[in-house]
Amino acid sequence: MKPIELSFEFFPPKTQDGIDKLRVTRAELMPLKPKFVSVTFGAGGSTQQGTLDTVLDMAKDGLEAAPHLSCIGSSKNDLRAILDQYRSNGIRHIVALRGDLPSGMGSVGELRYASELVSFIRAETGDWFHVEVAGYPEYHPQSRSPKHDLENFARKVKAGANSAITQYFFNADAYFRFVDDARKLGVDVPIVPGIMPITNFSQLMRFSEMCGAEVPRWVARRLESFGDDREAIRAFGLDVVTDLCRRLIDAGAPGLHFYTLNGAAATKSICERLAL
Ligand code: FAD
Repeated sequence: MKPIELSFEFFPPKTQDGIDKLRVTRAELMPLKPKFVSVTFGAGGSTQQGTLDTVLDMAKDGLEAAPHLSCIGSSKNDLRAILDQYRSNGIRHIVALRGDLPSGMGSVGELRYASELVSFIRAETGDWFHVEVAGYPEYHPQSRSPKHDLENFARKVKAGANSAITQYFFNADAYFRFVDDARKLGVDVPIVPGIMPITNFSQLMRFSEMCGAEVPRWVARRLESFGDDREAIRAFGLDVVTDLCRRLIDAGAPGLHFYTLNGAAATKSICERLAL
C-alpha cells in the first residue's frame, strides 16, 4: 500500500510568543515527516507579511512550505507582486483560494472566484507552482446547489490545479461521495481530506457553523455533556477523529491534511494512533 502523505496547516502568528510557540509545534510534528506544510492568508492581504515570514521560516528548515493565497479584495497587481515574491524566494507550492471578504471591507477585487485565481497563476507563472485548491464534501455554504458547487470545483481544477484539499468534515461518506462525483466530472487530481482534530467544543461549533461543516448530533451532544472537562473532550475527540482517519485511509484517501491551529498535541496523538 502507498504510504499516506501527511500535510499540516498553520496560521501566521501575530506575536513573538506565537512565533515561539509555532516553532515548538513544528519541532514536535516534524518527526512525522510531512510532505508539505501550509500557511493561511488573511483575505485582502491582511496577513501578507506574516504568511511570507512564516513560510520562509519553515522553508529555511528544509520544509516544503506552501503559502495560501486568496484573491478576494485584491487587484491583479497585488497578486502578481505576491507571486513574484514567492517565486524569488524559491517557493513552488501554493494553495489558491477565493477567500471571504471581511465585513465592512469594500471591493471584491479583480478576480471573483478561485478558478480565476488558478488561471491567473498559470498565466503569470506557467508551471512554477504546484497549485492546490479547496474542495467541499458538504458543499460550500454559499453555493447555489450541490451540483453547481461540484461543477465549480471541477472548473477550478481544470483551470490548472494539481491537487485539492477539502474542508474538514466528520461524515466520511460525504467525502467518498464527493470524490466519486468529482471523478465523474473528469477531476483526476488527488483530493486530500482536511482533518480537524477536536479539542474545544465551543470553538468547533463556531468554526463549523461558519464554514458549513456538520458536526454530527451524537458527537455534539457527547462533547457538550463534558462541560469544562477538557480531558474528556480531548479523549473523545481523539477517538472520533482517529476512527474517521482510519476509514479514510482504508478507503484509499491519498493523504491527510491536518488543520493544526498551531498546536501539535492532537495531530500527533492521532497520527501515533494510526501508526503513521
Ligand atoms: P471558490 O472555489 O471560488 O468558491 C466560492 C463559492 O463560489 C462557492 O459557493 C462556489 O460554488 C461558487 N463559485 C465558484 N465559481 C463560480 C462561478 N464561476 N460562478 C458562480 N459561482 C461560483 N480562507 C482564507 O481567507 N484564508 C485561507 O488561508 C484559507 N485557507 C483555506 C484552506 C482550505 C483547504 C479550505 C477548504 C478553505 C480555506 N479558506 C481560507 C476558506 C475559503 O477561503 C472559503 O471557504 C471561501 O469562502 C471560498 O474559497 P474557495 O477558494 O473555495 O472559493
